[in-house]
Amino acid sequence: MNKIKVGILGYGNLGQGVEMAVHQAEDMELVGVFSRRQPSQLTTESPTFSVDELEKMKDQIDVLILCGSSDKDLPKQGPYFAQYFNTVDSFDTHNDIPAYFNKVDKSAEDGGYVSVISSGWDPGLFSLNRLISEAILPAGETYTFWGPGKSQGHGAAVRQVEGVKDAVQYTIPSQKLLDEINQGHSIEYTSTTAHVREVFAVLEEDADPEQVEQMIVNMENYFKDYETKVCFISQEELDRDHGGVPHGGRVIRQGYTDESNQSLYEFRLNLDSNPEFTAAVNVACARAAYRMAEKGMVGAQTIFDIPPVLLSPKSAEELRRELL
Ligand code: NDP
Repeated sequence: MNKIKVGILGYGNLGQGVEMAVHQAEDMELVGVFSRRQPSQLTTESPTFSVDELEKMKDQIDVLILCGSSDKDLPKQGPYFAQYFNTVDSFDTHNDIPAYFNKVDKSAEDGGYVSVISSGWDPGLFSLNRLISEAILPAGETYTFWGPGKSQGHGAAVRQVEGVKDAVQYTIPSQKLLDEINQGHSIEYTSTTAHVREVFAVLEEDADPEQVEQMIVNMENYFKDYETKVCFISQEELDRDHGGVPHGGRVIRQGYTDESNQSLYEFRLNLDSNPEFTAAVNVACARAAYRMAEKGMVGAQTIFDIPPVLLSPKSAEELRRELL
């Protein structure tokens, strides 16, 4: 069997997760990790290359998985590399996805490649489950609850507060609203009522805890209007108990097949490692991207456009026998 040759661009959390997931995929092999940093700066046993070598190695790579950040890297790297490679990325700035899709689509069309954009879990598997549940249950409401999990952006915002030495932030779904849905009640859902925020922070030596707490809970766009709990702990406790990157959540469709019969559709993820799971989704999408390109397709695609059979290493016949 010819293995699908994968390249990784960007070696942060996601890049490391993709490396692990490619090793678990029997139908794939890793050509190498490409980075803007000096290859010698990367701690990995995989072959490492400078990003400048990528285009020269175009014919050795079937799919390039872009692991850069959505705010700083992908807006440039996505459209640029789509003209030279089949690509997969996890662009997750939801409001900008339509414009990003158009840019990547143009490059991929020009180059004759397939680019799967915004893969992962949200956007990604959550989006797909919103689509499926709404298609099946046109009457009803869809709710997305995030967490329990660590939100990188919120943690970074707390670390900017004067008097804070280090911090993490967890997003917790409202158990009250989840219980109400399970009891068949309609709920008043807003992002702020559906989630509670928990902050664990280490204070600078001279900082006033009350003042720091007020600055955190009143931070516009992050904590104001949310129920926020702030807990001050030592650096040792933070390092010992809060080092992981867990996340997850659920998409719920509370649908009605007639006025009195409710159908509850729930898709749930509970992840020890957000980047490792996101990477695993991207690797399955890389298989699909390769196969779509083999079928002669070109242009940008999202998870909505991928026939599920193309995600699996198994043949359609095996899947019909084993999973249908
Ligand atoms: P990181 O910040 O860990 O990595 C982003 C880039 O920064 C890397 O590709 C790397 O590029 C560079 N970098 C990483 N570590 C270092 C370092 N020590 N020194 C200098 N540069 C470094 O981000 P993540 O991997 O955690 O996440 C990437 C994106 O994935 C996020 O921005 C988010 O948008 C998206 N995401 C999407 C999800 C979804 O469900 N759709 C879920 C989770 C994340 P280089 O090697 O070239 O220097």
